[in-house]
Amino acid sequence: MESYGLLVEKQRDFFHTDQTKEISFRIQALETLRKAIKNGEQELIESLKQDLNKSEFDAYSTEIGIVLEEIRFTLKHLSKWAKPRRVKTPVTHIGSKSYIFPEPYGVTLIIAPWNYPFQLAIAPLIGAIAAGNCAVLKPSELTPKTSNLMAKLLKENFPEEFITVIEGGVETSEALLKEKFDYIFFTGSVPVGKIIMEAASKHLTPVTLELGGKSPCIVHEDANIRIAAKRIAWGKFMNAGQTCIAPDYLFVHQNIKDEFLSQLKATVAELYGDSPLENENFTKIVSERHFNRLQSFLNNGTVFVGGGSLPEQLKIEPTVLTDISWDDAVMEDEIFGPILPVLEYNNMGEIIDEINKHPKPLALYLFTESELVQSSVLNRVSFGGGCINDTVYHITSPYLPFGGVGSSGTGAYHGKGSFDTFSHEKSVLKQTTLFDIPLRYPNFKDGLKYI
Ligand code: NAD
Repeated sequence: MESYGLLVEKQRDFFHTDQTKEISFRIQALETLRKAIKNGEQELIESLKQDLNKSEFDAYSTEIGIVLEEIRFTLKHLSKWAKPRRVKTPVTHIGSKSYIFPEPYGVTLIIAPWNYPFQLAIAPLIGAIAAGNCAVLKPSELTPKTSNLMAKLLKENFPEEFITVIEGGVETSEALLKEKFDYIFFTGSVPVGKIIMEAASKHLTPVTLELGGKSPCIVHEDANIRIAAKRIAWGKFMNAGQTCIAPDYLFVHQNIKDEFLSQLKATVAELYGDSPLENENFTKIVSERHFNRLQSFLNNGTVFVGGGSLPEQLKIEPTVLTDISWDDAVMEDEIFGPILPVLEYNNMGEIIDEINKHPKPLALYLFTESELVQSSVLNRVSFGGGCINDTVYHITSPYLPFGGVGSSGTGAYHGKGSFDTFSHEKSVLKQTTLFDIPLRYPNFKDGLKYI
């Protein structure tokens, strides 16, 4: 197993030169990153096509565009975020002033997954740079073209003592995790998240874990059915369902189930055509192993929409399954593919109890016009983040920190959230020396004593 001790040492030495702490350095680095992405845009689109058959539209809207917007937003606000903040001081501390100094952690490790291989590697990197850290980036081995291109682009534009990409699979991750980093930012599955946290605990390294899980989507009887069908189909089948916050399964109220399902069927045809497998722009499943796992779910319940697949192209049609129960295999773990199981309900209280029996979801979506239903679900269910009357869209707002809770993750990022994640908040009390109040001393007798 390769050792990365020297690399981490080199980055730590560079960090201790204090260059990355200069705001002008961070701004320059973000500008450089932006330029590198813009120059490499066409190559990135091609790599994403080869790795996942992403269309140009998807590559731009869900990967490159999002990252460029994150850089723009960060550049606009960075100077303000990085300033020490003066906060209140209690009267008991008379004579002193209180400040919070955001400071970088130092050398950070970012481990990324394959489903949005560019966005999920570079978005945390933007936070790491903005906060003044050095970074080692370990992208996914399952999307080798994109990982390789990121390594090339970053190598051409940054010295390795500041930012570097280490390509490789599990062994590489394991070797990196043996080193002492000052912060670890991991995006990936729940089981690997546990491995990361365990490895980090050996060095007491703080972590952000962006994990996954089964994210429910509820369509209540008073929902706008046409809009619900369209926004659910979009959120579920984008990237062939390989989205951490895709609606994993649906709860549909029994009074509107038939109407909703026929609308959903029409919407899938509208968005992906009558033969989605022939649609050249439909994303493929990342590997044969993932394809076989998903294929095995196609005989659960009744196929209401889709159900077809092309093993040689690793493609599975947008599929909706009905007559599903919690005993079906498709309901066991996060699906992470274009298969949408539908469960029926008639009592909101019961499904809230059902959701609460399972691990806290990364996302939850609720379609209803009722404020009462909205507040009841928001009040009773804990989840990372989500939308009322939409799916997935919350992830694109820089004002909404994005992350999970419980087993769907810990910590959050995007916008100022990314800066905060990669910064330690150093609390400092600046005390006066003009007087010394004796109250705190054990020999207090004389009242205010001037020195
Ligand atoms: P994964 O956990 O298998 O891999 C993620 C990264 O960890 C990869 O770089 C991989 O090389 C590395 N890794 C794998 N096994 C490891 C091990 N034993 N030790 C150390 N490192 C290891 O996840 P994935 O399959 O790439 O991605 C899919 C999962 O990620 C899904 O569960 C999905 O929900 C989740 N995800 C979450 C978010 C989020 O923002 N919360 C975003 C995308 C994906």
